[in-house]
Amino acid sequence: MIEDIFTTNINEVIETLLIWWKFNKRNFPWRNTNDSYIITCVEILLQRTKAEAVERVYDEFFSSFPNIYHLSTDNSEILKNIIYPLGLPKRVNILRGVANYIIETHGGRIPNNESDLLAIPGIGEYTAHAILSFSYGENYSVFDTNTSRIVSRIFGVHRANKTEKKFREVIYSILNKMIEHIGSSVETNYSLLDFAAIICRKKKPQCQNCPLSKNCYYNLQVSPNS
Ligand code: SF4
Repeated sequence: MIEDIFTTNINEVIETLLIWWKFNKRNFPWRNTNDSYIITCVEILLQRTKAEAVERVYDEFFSSFPNIYHLSTDNSEILKNIIYPLGLPKRVNILRGVANYIIETHGGRIPNNESDLLAIPGIGEYTAHAILSFSYGENYSVFDTNTSRIVSRIFGVHRANKTEKKFREVIYSILNKMIEHIGSSVETNYSLLDFAAIICRKKKPQCQNCPLSKNCYYNLQVSPNS
């Protein structure tokens, strides 16, 4: 029973994950700030882009566009030159559009609630929750392919047996219970993202080196190496 697995092990899972994270966390410059402008731009830059690639353009981006007004009024080629090597060139217009919308609608302040964030063209659920968590310390979980992969593997949540809506509900429910237990969405979300990048990768998860191998449905029931 999926429900039995996650209700009995969820606290142990997130506690073990945080111990692992203490010694293995990745240190990116945007993790040392809660500046909502920086977090918003970075989360857009991180869309379908590796964190290491964003790190390489971080200093140039924020020295060229130190605040939302610079980003809004820029007509130079600098933004294109920064974005194009990362891929997804449409992000040039997305970034400018987000900046313009926030200036026009919110006086230049990044909203601190979900409904206002989701109303911004170019801001989706993941980005909104990331801003609320990493900038404002609100208890919002981030749902993406990485966090959902970890949770579905550990707790045996089978996507194929569910509607997408039900799958998301179950994953969110587990993520939210993790945050509730720890009391910090920042630590919970960052530890899950780092764990997905280093240990529970999409291809070739490192089950042999995983501190959660004894808690993990995938390792115990599915993996041929178990
Ligand atoms: S045991 Fe393997 S599948 Fe399970 S959480 Fe660890 S790395 Fe991921």
